[in-house]
Amino acid sequence: MNITLRFHGRLNDFLPRSRRAVAFAQSVDGAPAIKDTLESVGVPHPEIERVVVNGAPVDMAYIAQPDDICEIYPPRQPIDFYRAAFAELRPTFVADVHLGRLAAYLRMLGFDTVYSSVDLADPLLADIAYRDQRILLTRDLGLLKRKIVRFGYFVRETAPLRQLAEIVERYDLLHYGMQALRCTNCNGALEAVAKDEIAPQMTAQTLRYYDEFRRCTACGKVYWRGSHHEKIERFVDGLRGG
Ligand SMILES: [Zn+2]
Repeated sequence: MNITLRFHGRLNDFLPRSRRAVAFAQSVDGAPAIKDTLESVGVPHPEIERVVVNGAPVDMAYIAQPDDICEIYPPRQPIDFYRAAFAELRPTFVADVHLGRLAAYLRMLGFDTVYSSVDLADPLLADIAYRDQRILLTRDLGLLKRKIVRFGYFVRETAPLRQLAEIVERYDLLHYGMQALRCTNCNGALEAVAKDEIAPQMTAQTLRYYDEFRRCTACGKVYWRGSHHEKIERFVDGLRGG
């Protein structure tokens, strides 16, 4: 049978040019869930917020009928269907192995982000996202199509700072305070620590210029308001200013 599909907004990023923002016919064999048909066309289900068939909303388990007309929508702007599901909880993330710099930047801004430089298997990443209700960030479409992934996003940009801007915009991260900093090393929470306690580990120069220090409660790494953190803060201030 044939059905008609039309994708809206950024969902068109996943389609060949000839299919973007236009209605096109799609043949369907058997009785698959609409999720499978949409993914076979190239669009991973976590990117989709709403599917409307013949004018009525359906869920991802819907079985298409002959001649259905399907409109497929991404989240509305600002993009926060995660927030709609979890009220005011601070978003948490799990990033795939290719997104190490992005993960470090998110931690620097205080967002709990699971990341390992050891390539975790796809089922494990999907499971972490599912179990902890984390947003899965990846550039792997196959991973995003896994059924148990509820919140996920295909990172379009390739440069880390641009990726950060993309995620900040997509999940409206400026809405959340940036105070609860995490360790860029291990994602542990940071706590304030007295200067004399960490002095033996610091260079004379650092001690001369800085008075406020934080220490990772998990791995013990010490942080101060050094240049790399200031760079990220300036960057975020830039985003704030539009
Ligand atoms: Zn740490």
